[in-house]
Amino acid sequence: MKAVYIESHGGPEVLIYGDRPEPALQAGEVKVRVRAAALNRLDTYSRAGGRGLRRTFPPPLILGGDCAGDVIDVDDAAVGLKPGDRVVINPRITCGRCPACLSGRDDLCSHSRFMGTALDGSYAEYVAVPAVNAHPIADQVSYEEAAAVPTTFLPMWNMLIRRARLQPWETVLVLSASAGVGTAAIQVAKKIIGARVIATTSTPEKAARALELGADAVINYTEEDITQRAKALTGGLGVDVVVDHVGAEFFPKAYDALRPGGRYGICGVTTGYRAELHLGNLFTRQLEVFGVFMGSKEDMREIVAMLNRGAIRPVIDRVFPLSQAADAHRLMEGRSFFGKLVLRP
Ligand code: ZN
Repeated sequence: MKAVYIESHGGPEVLIYGDRPEPALQAGEVKVRVRAAALNRLDTYSRAGGRGLRRTFPPPLILGGDCAGDVIDVDDAAVGLKPGDRVVINPRITCGRCPACLSGRDDLCSHSRFMGTALDGSYAEYVAVPAVNAHPIADQVSYEEAAAVPTTFLPMWNMLIRRARLQPWETVLVLSASAGVGTAAIQVAKKIIGARVIATTSTPEKAARALELGADAVINYTEEDITQRAKALTGGLGVDVVVDHVGAEFFPKAYDALRPGGRYGICGVTTGYRAELHLGNLFTRQLEVFGVFMGSKEDMREIVAMLNRGAIRPVIDRVFPLSQAADAHRLMEGRSFFGKLVLRP
């Protein structure tokens, strides 16, 4: 089958478009013909070998996590799916029997593996995954939209609904609204929870897109001070919740924008992973800082239910043929896109 894989770490030029063996169906798995695979920052880290993702070669590694496609084969032990079903794949494979998995908190599985990092991924014509990782999608949901869902909406569901328990009467500050996670954050906060959303972004064009998507106010961080504007927009009080998927660069300003008792969620560190935390403020203002990584299988089930109902709609910036994965990686490493970049095998 055609796939995009690496035989060494490096820049986008190390991505090889070529032939790899088709995955064999294991017990409890379904085999899926991939129709769309969505890029995530994680893919670029896996390619570059940074952020704890350095590995030894051979064997080569097929990159990519998120994808959607058609079920073409089903193992006897896989229940509930049949050939022809259109599905979206949750790229995080968990063990199913550790204490975290057994308690329904499989997002904390200590033996989890991520497609495209520890095992072959979705930049390919076919993948084989445990049936529990494949979720049927409705006819009106495109493969591209479905593929754009898992790694952007799972952390947002986990962060906003489970951990921060954002309420409809509260205000959330979403940093860097133009990335896939930012667009998911706006939708979960506004369309699912009904909270007030303040988004930060860098250009008037991106600000207009964020408002279209449901943001109530936008801060252009190249011209305005995030702390001051967020406080001004909340009557001097500060925001209830911050969604941070970008890390060090904006942490000090966004942290200072929290009201007393506010919650600060982190699910990515694109701009750097070290920041200074004022412990005095943390306890006197009774703030909460927490991290999330993806979400549980139950989160995924709920997200797909809302996707199928049309309540959320992933934002696609551009679709590339699989053979042009390197161009998509170059675009992702810049800042000139809004929403998700998708590959079509
Ligand atoms: Zn487990």
